[in-house]
Amino acid sequence: MSLLLSDEQVQFRDSVREFTRREVTPELIRKCEQDRRPPMHLLAAVAANDWLSVGIPEEYGGSPDYVCVALLLEELGYGYLAAADLVYRALIHGAGVLINHGTPKMREELLPRLLRGELLFLNGISEPGTGADASSLTTKAVPDGADYVINGHKIFNTGMGFSDYVVCYARTDPEAPRHRGISAILVPTNADGLTFREIDTVGYRAIPTYEAWYEDVRVPAANLVGELHGGWSVMMGHLEKERMGLCALASGATRRVLDDTVTYAGTREQFGRPIAAFQAVSHMIADMKVLSHTSQLTMLQLAALVDAGRPARMEASIAKIHCAESYKTAADLGMQVWGAYGYSTESDVNRHWRDARLMPIGGGSTQIQKNVIGRLLGLPAAT
Ligand SMILES: Cc1cc2nc3c(=O)[nH]c(=O)nc-3n(C[C@H](O)[C@H](O)[C@H](O)COP(=O)(O)OP(=O)(O)OC[C@H]3O[C@@H](n4cnc5c(N)ncnc54)[C@H](O)[C@@H]3O)c2cc1C
Repeated sequence: MSLLLSDEQVQFRDSVREFTRREVTPELIRKCEQDRRPPMHLLAAVAANDWLSVGIPEEYGGSPDYVCVALLLEELGYGYLAAADLVYRALIHGAGVLINHGTPKMREELLPRLLRGELLFLNGISEPGTGADASSLTTKAVPDGADYVINGHKIFNTGMGFSDYVVCYARTDPEAPRHRGISAILVPTNADGLTFREIDTVGYRAIPTYEAWYEDVRVPAANLVGELHGGWSVMMGHLEKERMGLCALASGATRRVLDDTVTYAGTREQFGRPIAAFQAVSHMIADMKVLSHTSQLTMLQLAALVDAGRPARMEASIAKIHCAESYKTAADLGMQVWGAYGYSTESDVNRHWRDARLMPIGGGSTQIQKNVIGRLLGLPAAT
């Protein structure tokens, strides 16, 4: 892959690789998974290295290079998805939203703290009746003097218990067509009237997701993000970067499953030889390599397009499908090679198998990406 990167990008990647090797230890991963909390100190350490600046425009003190963003997330994802996910959240759900849609006051107060790794934002879109069809959300925000009062029920809001702000998507104009009556509002997660509970999930255990209830949650009208009723543009405003980030996470994790499985198959002996010597096993590993290699390529191509400011809806959907499904398949193949040890929840490959299952569901499911591809090909719109 180095051929596709500049010398500076290779140097950047190698620094992150070295950091990850040093900081992300098996003990740290075990503790985070047990405690169900992400390694927040790593976000601060990444920020202290000034690595978040690769996702920030020059006018806000950064030096943007989205290939470097992808490399940062990929290398961290190789070490531990939960660590990479935190950085993804800070850059995409935090800084990205503020830079593109925040008010000057929000940027002045919150952006520096985000870039020091002191704050986390989350996305509050999904509701019990609102999954893939995000425009059907029913949470309401009603103006009241200088405030909005929010009432509604959200679900699968990841990070509510350890983040500072939720970008809550609420209906502000019930009469408008569905996409046009939604606003994005910044709500502190400790706001009065906002309660939540952790949902148990099969994977992503260190980055828990939450069900949340808004009961007369009052926030200043100045917390509006973007235009009034313009929440759909905020939600869709950086889709390509969001998908690129998820692809980088999945690509890094896929490469890790591959490397761990190569090592395992070379050392585990049965019938007097390493299991890697059986062609059936080496072919499973070869399939994993193909998935890992092609994930990295589609992810880097998407990052290069984002860097060039070129439209990349098609490439973003292709990459999202490919990286998500490849991680899922590679982790499944990895488990087969690891046999009973892979089936044990004590193994790393088992964690990947569980974590990978989310990828084709969240961040725009595989089926929704296929609808997008169909639409871009000019096929009749899928409903
Ligand atoms: C661990 C986790 C973390 C999450 N974090 C967040 C978060 O932080 N914030 C947030 O707002 N949401 C979050 N979500 C929610 C996530 O975005 C939704 O799961 C996703 O939007 C899909 O919605 P759904 O699961 O309700 O599936 P549904 O929309 O009910 O879909 C069910 C199935 O039908 C398919 N389907 C639906 N519509 C179509 C269609 N038109 N064409 C073809 N197939 C279709 C889907 O692909 C899926 O396979 C999270 C989910 C999980 C599991």
